[in-house]
Amino acid sequence: MKVLSVASECAPLVKTGGLADVAGALPGALKSCGVEMRTMLPAYPAVTRQIGDTRVVWEGRLLGRDAAIREARAAGLDLFLVDCPDFFDRHGAIYLDAGGADWSDNAERFGALSLAAARLAQAEGWRPDLLHAHDWQAGLVATYLRQTGAAQPCVLTIHNIAFGGLAPAAKLAALELDPGRFTPDGFEFYGKISALKAGLLDARAITTVSPTYAAELMTPAFGMGFDGVLATRAGDLTGILNGIDTGVWDPSSDAHAPSFDDPEGKAAARDDLRGALGLPDADGPLAVIVSRMTAQKGLDLLPDALDEWLATGGQVALLGSGDPGIEARWRALSAHPGVSVTLGYDEPLSHRLIAGGDVILVPSRFEPCGLTQLYGLRYGTLPVVARTGGLADTVIDANEAGRRAGVATGFVHAPGRTDAIRLALRQVMNVFGDAPSWRAMMENAMRHPVGWDASAAAYRALYDRLQTP
Ligand code: ADP
Repeated sequence: MKVLSVASECAPLVKTGGLADVAGALPGALKSCGVEMRTMLPAYPAVTRQIGDTRVVWEGRLLGRDAAIREARAAGLDLFLVDCPDFFDRHGAIYLDAGGADWSDNAERFGALSLAAARLAQAEGWRPDLLHAHDWQAGLVATYLRQTGAAQPCVLTIHNIAFGGLAPAAKLAALELDPGRFTPDGFEFYGKISALKAGLLDARAITTVSPTYAAELMTPAFGMGFDGVLATRAGDLTGILNGIDTGVWDPSSDAHAPSFDDPEGKAAARDDLRGALGLPDADGPLAVIVSRMTAQKGLDLLPDALDEWLATGGQVALLGSGDPGIEARWRALSAHPGVSVTLGYDEPLSHRLIAGGDVILVPSRFEPCGLTQLYGLRYGTLPVVARTGGLADTVIDANEAGRRAGVATGFVHAPGRTDAIRLALRQVMNVFGDAPSWRAMMENAMRHPVGWDASAAAYRALYDRLQTP
């Protein structure tokens, strides 16, 4: 089966978050299930710099601009790059201009990516049996397939519904969308065009990245205004958990941290991390955080919740960047000798943190799946997470039942509340002081399956269902 995956970012070539990790991992994960997946991606300068030879497989106009689709191979991925210089050959971040604002033509840029997928689906040559679109940036794939009469089904995966792909109604013509469908029953979203809503309506099936988030999405508290349209598609919506690349995230052969394959081995990684960050030696546990610094991630709640943790001998090391207000709050906290704050994006340091921490904190207000708690499990860095989305689906709380049954892998607290985080950290301290219990939890965590096998099989089964007439 041939599947074209369409995404705005794809690791290791270009990444701003978990979407890239998933887009980069899916082709390899699905290969063993008999799926030949190729990935369509914009030809950003950061990507083309990493690519050797390319071959043009389609040439034409995309939303009024000259464009080509180039076939390429890089980082083990079979790619189709959408080479449309007006949209993609520019300096700056992939979604943001130099001033940090969304590019004003993001709707057209990712509309062009989506339209390119529909063109490829109908061109001579490698022709997909099915298209798999990711997030609002590929939301219009299903809609352009429908508009152009293509036969292939499309799956849309929601990685984060907080981004609706909104554009003013005045862009209907520029996006070459059917104005007759600009209604509340169509892709209109409170007076604007929503590329995400278009995809939610037109995709043959919708997935999101955890079963709990799939259920949450249909409620007003989490649906970000799309809960109504999602409820109409409840029968076509499923949650399939993300896996992690267990080759890249492997404590026994990590390229960036001292290796270990049992709980005892962590001591060397912890010492290495303390040394690298200038944290003093200590008997207490070291908590780590690797995250975008936004309200979604709950990093505004954490500083106040850490008072007792720090006072009782705990340490904290954070790597992240994002909201200037939250960054400033953490910069102030870093005056404490037990706190290390690194503002920025640093892949090697993220490995060292996850390898060397005793616990990883993920206090998100909502979390579609979350990857860092999965890395934490694999490295015996016990996750301390909010009970939401994929965090709730992947971490087994060290409550009485979980500990008695010997299955606990982490600590789960109510989302969005400083007092709940503080209490969870108090429990971490208690269990950390009981070395056999802590070791047992580390063993459980390190054994917990976090790879792609089960999820790849679930995607394959879904593709098969859509192929059956
Ligand atoms: P999201 O996609 O919402 O940001 P996820 O947990 O799904 O959250 O994925 C985040 C990914 O980005 C993980 O691979 C994480 O390690 C990585 N990451 C986040 N912030 C940083 C950072 N400052 N430096 C290095 N890696 C980071």
